[in-house]
Amino acid sequence: MPDVPAMPDVIVVGGGIIGLSAAWQLHRDGAEVVVLDPAPGTGASHAAAGMLAPIHEAYWGESHILRLNLAASQAWPAFAEAMGADAVDYRRNGMLMAAYDADDKALLDNLGDLHEQEGLPVERLRSRECRTREPLLAPGIRGGVYSPLDHQANPRRVVAELLGRVPIIPISATEVSRNRVVAGDGRVLACQQVVVAAGAWTGRLLGVPIRPIKGQIIRLSGPEGLLRLPVRGVVRGSSVYAVPRSDGEIVVGATQEEQGFDTRVTAGGVYELLRDVLALLPGLSEIDLVETWAGLRPGAPDNAPIIGTGDDGIVYATGHYRNGILTAPITAIAVSALVQGREPPVNLSPFSPERFRTSLISTDPAAGTSDQLSEVSA
Ligand SMILES: Cc1cc2nc3c(=O)[nH]c(=O)nc-3n(C[C@H](O)[C@H](O)[C@H](O)COP(=O)(O)OP(=O)(O)OC[C@H]3O[C@@H](n4cnc5c(N)ncnc54)[C@H](O)[C@@H]3O)c2cc1C
Repeated sequence: MPDVPAMPDVIVVGGGIIGLSAAWQLHRDGAEVVVLDPAPGTGASHAAAGMLAPIHEAYWGESHILRLNLAASQAWPAFAEAMGADAVDYRRNGMLMAAYDADDKALLDNLGDLHEQEGLPVERLRSRECRTREPLLAPGIRGGVYSPLDHQANPRRVVAELLGRVPIIPISATEVSRNRVVAGDGRVLACQQVVVAAGAWTGRLLGVPIRPIKGQIIRLSGPEGLLRLPVRGVVRGSSVYAVPRSDGEIVVGATQEEQGFDTRVTAGGVYELLRDVLALLPGLSEIDLVETWAGLRPGAPDNAPIIGTGDDGIVYATGHYRNGILTAPITAIAVSALVQGREPPVNLSPFSPERFRTSLISTDPAAGTSDQLSEVSA
């Protein structure tokens, strides 16, 4: 790990994939940078499956997120190459989404309409065609959608690579402003620019509505190549996925639970994941269950990340919800551009930290009392 600079230009608060990627990009762009985190790499980034899936993460009404995710997908090859594509297990073999029963198929068909409307490159497949691409799928599945553009990487390996490339002070921040951080031990650290990338904990540090969304996930281990492709499934209305690594590990996830800062793994959570993944891929029942885990996704009320400079002068990089692994490289490039006064590579206006800071109740008495909604937050 490089030495901690005596006078950093930039302090990044938070050493998950977002903070580490931003710090590394800033370093590569010539800034003296340091990351503050008491436990770098142990947050959501340690839990994540590593799907880089702009297409299979596309939802109605979220075109602006889709555009960001597509730009992120394009930034991934260079990001992976710079670390060593094999070192981070970056693989570009596409992704299959499969429907378990007729209702699940209707849901996939509906998503297919969205893909068509957005001009996304997907192939709609019949049951047999799905099984040709992924022979481990259950014979009864009703059909699916293959996306050649959706890829994968191993987030734990990415974080391990990044941890060796940026200097870290292993302490938390208790107060932040544009150019100053108060650390947990009372030290005051000065710099030219503070970047906050504290994941699900950002709301505790700054006044933005970021909340933790818990995801339980399990890891199986079997023969290399047992599962050929990352598979997402809709099984009786629930979603589940299985992502194979090159060493035979298969990551199965993930629950979505709103219950604060709770990272317990529960019997019910693991049961749901196993029930659904074994319905979809029955052949996985014979292999080893090697790990259970839970992480906290950082979520904003509108599901979009917060990337931009706030009115407080702080650069925000948080709220990446389900797609923080996918969007790490584009966020990093955007953060570095913001810090260095360059035009970001993507339109960041939908992701502004200021979008939540509108007042719901008018404080102007002349505005009347019957309907006091003066502005509505996005
Ligand atoms: C089960 C699960 C599966 C997922 N799968 C995928 C996937 O397949 N693809 C994908 O793109 N995304 C996925 N995600 C989402 C992705 O993991 C997150 O969006 C991403 O990891 C967020 O990164 P982050 O750096 O913002 O947060 P984190 O990784 O949580 O890092 C935040 C860091 O901030 C530090 N911190 C907190 N407070 C302070 C403080 N006061 N001072 C200093 N440091 C502080 C913490 O210690 C932590 O290290 C998944 C998430 C989960 C939970």
